[in-house]
Amino acid sequence: MNIKQNLVNEDKYSIKCPYEMNAEFIVVHNTANDASAENEINYMKSNNNKVSFHYAADDKEIVQGIPENRNAWHAGDGNGDGNRKGIAIEICYSKSGGDRFTKAEQNAVIFIAQKLKEKGWGIDKVKKHQDFASKNCPHRTLELGWDRFLNMIKAELGQASTTNDLPNLTNYNGQSIVDALNSVGYDSSFSNRKILANKLGISNYTGTAEQNLKMIALLKGNTSSVTYLKNANYKGSSIVEALNQIKVDSSYSYRSKLASKNGINNYKGTATQNTQLLNKLKMGTLIKI
Ligand SMILES: [Zn+2]
Repeated sequence: MNIKQNLVNEDKYSIKCPYEMNAEFIVVHNTANDASAENEINYMKSNNNKVSFHYAADDKEIVQGIPENRNAWHAGDGNGDGNRKGIAIEICYSKSGGDRFTKAEQNAVIFIAQKLKEKGWGIDKVKKHQDFASKNCPHRTLELGWDRFLNMIKAELGQASTTNDLPNLTNYNGQSIVDALNSVGYDSSFSNRKILANKLGISNYTGTAEQNLKMIALLKGNTSSVTYLKNANYKGSSIVEALNQIKVDSSYSYRSKLASKNGINNYKGTATQNTQLLNKLKMGTLIKI
């Protein structure tokens, strides 16, 4: 991601950034517009309104318009902390949303994570415009979920949040991690699942079926006691044969117990159910009883 400068002329400092500043946090905004970062910065630089912001992020780049050691007028709190201590970042294309906005938000996340590292700041240093003034900004980021946004930054930082907030999926019997997390009111976004995967020791989470099933299995019970039947490279299509090959009881009653332990309801030994069992076994995600 490209970061470039297109700084306001010094003769406009008195309008755009009159005070020296020791930044203490970042303030996130949405432009409520459909212009690129370059255009947002150019417009901000060219007019004589007491409106300014340090950075604009779009789907392609980050453009800086105000030096970080000067204040900007963005938080709607007069000479309050927002305007006098905050580094403002505007996320572009929030009016219409869509792919451009999604990418702009992702670029902002990468940039903010870099900035936090550079300054030695924690996630608590990421504020929203709304924290300083009663304005619905960053409107689309808020609508999509502020915690989701913070989680994206945490994921970018490689930080797992505290371990005591693991969702409890004991009562979930399906096979969709998204449904499962939603069913307990837990953020099921990809970025949050990535954090969750890290916590559960599932590395390099990319959202594969195997990883998702593993995650469900781990969150269903006592995570430390979950073990899986080893897949012995069985290439055929019979769960009975596969179990026999790894010397595990292949009787109907045992398969029935395996099924229920693995979220396959009302096991009757149908081809579909057996294939589900077999697929789990082949992926190494069939929980051992
Ligand atoms: Zn704002």
